[in-house]
Amino acid sequence: MRDQLDPQHDILWFDDGNVVVAARGMSFKLHKSVLALHSTVFLELFDSLDTSESHLHGGCPVLCVNDYGPDLARLLLVVYGSDRRYFARDKPLSFSELRSVALLAQKYQIEEIISEACACLKIAFTAQMNDEAYWERPAEYIRSGPTNPLWCEDRDLVGVVSLARAVRCPSVEVMALYHCCRIGAGVLFSGVQYDDMEVELSREDLRTCVNATDLLYQHNTYVMNALTDMFAYPSETPRIIPCRTSADCKNALGLLIASGLQNEQFSSPRALECLDRWIDEQSEMCYGCREALKNVVNERRKEVFDQLGAMFGVEPWPPVDS
Ligand SMILES: [Zn+2]
Repeated sequence: MRDQLDPQHDILWFDDGNVVVAARGMSFKLHKSVLALHSTVFLELFDSLDTSESHLHGGCPVLCVNDYGPDLARLLLVVYGSDRRYFARDKPLSFSELRSVALLAQKYQIEEIISEACACLKIAFTAQMNDEAYWERPAEYIRSGPTNPLWCEDRDLVGVVSLARAVRCPSVEVMALYHCCRIGAGVLFSGVQYDDMEVELSREDLRTCVNATDLLYQHNTYVMNALTDMFAYPSETPRIIPCRTSADCKNALGLLIASGLQNEQFSSPRALECLDRWIDEQSEMCYGCREALKNVVNERRKEVFDQLGAMFGVEPWPPVDS
């Protein structure tokens, strides 16, 4: 046992507790039965505690763990139910907070917290291509989307990849790797710092991202070429409603292509982004032409999506967990 305990947590120091948990920088007086109810790992640790007189603190056995105190406090507050809305707050939870709770939940095998964390990650890193609001501006959504429960900076994407693997959430792993391909080498190679731990992508992951970025540029060109193909061969894009203003529509399509070129939409790795609103808002094309163009673009986006598993080494794709 440590000679001196670190400072006691304000809330998680119960007078009627029967075990002291000594973490790095913080200690807790807790109830064995409560922890054992949620975690068989704690149950086993309690069984192996030294209960001889010299190892007690105030009559309680002491369990020393190497967890960072503030992180363990977050997990324990969820376990004790005083933070039941932890994963469904009015304000988004920062990724670093979710990460610390999820990793400790994984270490102590607290399944309900792991699944809550995964559910939260799957909203921020959805593998559902029909979520238009998300795919219109995924980079902005991940940072501060109105219905996103998570606040995630670009540098966190490296941390998301690593966490998704730790909690076995392959769809999130792939989608986070996809997002890694748009943030640029500077962020990707420098990693991210959490409390006292630095997380970096492995050399293998970096190689995968570099290769995938090249592919995504090509795939994006394929998606965007739906516009130029329609411009060059208008009759080959099937329309449910026939076009009666083909000259005007062709002119409008030309302006849309010009706008895409000016916004660098043709030279980007963002192959999955939804163009529906852009096509609707910026073009003077007739309804039939707009719907026809959106259909072709979305079919091509879906083709790109179907290749993500192979691109990032996750099979089957999409995984059953998504
Ligand atoms: Zn038309």
